[in-house]
Amino acid sequence: MYKYKQLRDGVYVVSLDNHVNLIEALSDFCRAEKIEAGSVNGIAALGEATFRFLDPAVKKYVDRTLSEQMEATCIIGNISVKDGAPYLHVHVTCSRSDYSCVGGHLLEARINGACELFVEKFAGVSNGRRFDPETGLNLYDL
Ligand code: FE
Repeated sequence: MYKYKQLRDGVYVVSLDNHVNLIEALSDFCRAEKIEAGSVNGIAALGEATFRFLDPAVKKYVDRTLSEQMEATCIIGNISVKDGAPYLHVHVTCSRSDYSCVGGHLLEARINGACELFVEKFAGVSNGRRFDPETGLNLYDL
């Protein structure tokens, strides 16, 4: 699913394998490295991406999948934990073949080319989440 190198304590460079699901592979990495609090940033070439938009008025998600080649020009997110499993909150901006951009909350994506990430692990700490009925979101449990 991925190759990686630890650059220094808590800092990893990660290359996700071609054709894998970005969120699944990154979750696997976080599980393997026991990351319960951290951050991620990177770039990628994607063949498909599903974005999720929350309509706060009705607390309903609207998902949209774009099945086309895109350059993920900015992947940025945070890593926490919910119910004992890695919880990734990732946003992305993608450039299409006409150089227009789309973006938003990334639900899932299929890599078609490469995906190069830097992951930072905040060692020794855990950042949990809980469901918040008012917003319908899984917010930080602070
Ligand atoms: Fe989001």
